[in-house]
Amino acid sequence: MADGSCFFKGRRIVLITKHGKERVIKPTLEKATGCQVLLDTSFDTDQLGTFTREIARPGTQLEAARRKAQKGMELTGLDIGLASEGSFGPHPLIPFLPWNVEIVLLVDDREKLEIYGMCANSETNFTQTLVADLREAEDFARKIGFPEHWLVLRPDNERHQSVVKGINKWEHLKDAVKWGFAKSAAGKVFLETDMRAHANPTRMRNIQKAAEDLAKKIKQQCPRCGTPGFSVTVRKKGLPCEWCGRPTEETKARVFTCGRCGFSKEKRMPRSKKAPAGRCQYCNP
Ligand SMILES: [Zn+2]
Ligand SMILES: [Zn+2]
Repeated sequence: MADGSCFFKGRRIVLITKHGKERVIKPTLEKATGCQVLLDTSFDTDQLGTFTREIARPGTQLEAARRKAQKGMELTGLDIGLASEGSFGPHPLIPFLPWNVEIVLLVDDREKLEIYGMCANSETNFTQTLVADLREAEDFARKIGFPEHWLVLRPDNERHQSVVKGINKWEHLKDAVKWGFAKSAAGKVFLETDMRAHANPTRMRNIQKAAEDLAKKIKQQCPRCGTPGFSVTVRKKGLPCEWCGRPTEETKARVFTCGRCGFSKEKRMPRSKKAPAGRCQYCNP
């Protein structure tokens, strides 16, 4: 399919970030859209929510990304905005596995179009701990990939009012731990991974994957109206088992839908494609 450059021709896009996300978003999206991506760092995106609980993020992840994209358009007067939003927590089905979902969203106000790319996986060092001395703090730091991955520290617990962010040197960690114990009532220091993009190269890689997913969707244009973002909206289950031929939970067909004119098209898996017997509830109950 053609790329998105005809659709967005001659326009400029604003990306709002203050955490260095342009490094992975700007080149990928400039290539996919053919537009120049302008950076706006004037707005403190932390006002819309932080990972360290000072400011709760209202609404869903997609709504949060939308607010940032709108803010960027407001500040610059441009009519296309880009924004990224991440979330961290336990895997939805396997609670001991950490889970990171990254969204990169493009909002085209003029054409009333929204396209987003996503990356969801357990490739994250997202974690917290309570330590009782410097040795434990340094062990934890090594485990999470410090100092390339930064740390956040609080005395006592995750809700303590005092906080040190951006710890990225062993000396700095030592000082912060000392400070934390001096301030602590319980003789403990709370440490957690700093999940801001510039402080966490593992997260930055996932943001890049989400940006690449968005670029791929932009290049998929609606066969009827040519609008970018013609992408999968429904997955139909029922791919036949390789042994018994009965329908399984595996995807049999994907439905692509246009976000603008509503045209949709079903793409079925080739007849030769079968589900592994391990996925069949009859052959492998
Ligand atoms: Zn079977
Ligand atoms: Zn269409």
